[in-house]
Amino acid sequence: MKRLFIDLDGTIAKFNVRNALERFDKEKGFFAKLGAYVGVEVINELALTNQVFVISASPNDQADSDKLLWLSRYLPNISQENITLCRLGENKAKIIKDKYNINIDSNCYLLDDYSKNLFEWVACGGSGIKRLTTVADNSTGKWQGLQIKKLNELASFFA
Ligand SMILES: [Mg+2]
Repeated sequence: MKRLFIDLDGTIAKFNVRNALERFDKEKGFFAKLGAYVGVEVINELALTNQVFVISASPNDQADSDKLLWLSRYLPNISQENITLCRLGENKAKIIKDKYNINIDSNCYLLDDYSKNLFEWVACGGSGIKRLTTVADNSTGKWQGLQIKKLNELASFFA
């Protein structure tokens, strides 16, 4: 059975705004106001009948609650127990493994714009999908695995 784990910032939430990291850390409501990339509704639809999870890093409790607000707006079909918020720099694979007590194998996919997260995920046995955007374009070619340019490419993911 396939499971899809999805990052937020820069993957489905548009994080490409000025001083984003700094504002994200300090400004109340900053994350909640971020826009969503085209195609986010495809993920919401998949979440109705499939194992779809969110794993996202944030700097503090305020940012956590902003992210939950954002999720209730754009991905209401993802249940609370499938949402994990961790702290910046943490290994997403380890967090997921411990939280759900599952073995991360090749049927566990992480969709993320940040290659470091993908490499850590693969090192734990999972499959990675690089999210390509104008700011994360993999131009160095460091990531050689699966990649998608548009979120609606996920439409047939569980088929
Ligand atoms: Mg990201």
